[in-house]
Amino acid sequence: MASLTLFQRAPYSGRSLESELDEQWMRQALVAAREAQAIGEVPIGVCIVSDNQLVTVCGNRTRTDCDPTAHAEIVALREAARKLGNYRLTGVDVYSTIEPCAMCAGALIQARVRRLIYGAPDERAGAVISRFRICDTDFLNHRIEISAGVLEAECRALMQEFFQTRRGRIVD
Ligand code: ZN
Repeated sequence: MASLTLFQRAPYSGRSLESELDEQWMRQALVAAREAQAIGEVPIGVCIVSDNQLVTVCGNRTRTDCDPTAHAEIVALREAARKLGNYRLTGVDVYSTIEPCAMCAGALIQARVRRLIYGAPDERAGAVISRFRICDTDFLNHRIEISAGVLEAECRALMQEFFQTRRGRIVD
């Protein structure tokens, strides 16, 4: 089932070394998503990798930091730029458990990241495919390579569980 999903959604077919590495890094992003959930944040996690080396892993921090821009992607990009000492992150791959929103997709372009790999689509606010196609624009002469659907079921389940629990609390 999982490999079928991967086959349908990812640009490569079957299980290649790249897809195994993608799953490995996405698991790190999932750990950050669960940690975010544990402190009352929306469970989205991001892992940034450069030359197959981990640069940073971050979760959503909007409530914790009282900052509407503290989405996992933004927090991770800031941290990666600081660590690498460069505001251009040209060789960097970004793993996000959920399709980025418009703000985060814009930031990924500003950072000139090499690849974006995400788990589940965000039908409500996703800005890669679902609502907008921000990463397709080439006004900065920069194209981001996109892979979708890596560990999609796990990434989606985490979000569904979070929103069901929250709705349950409000309704009951
Ligand atoms: Zn965002």
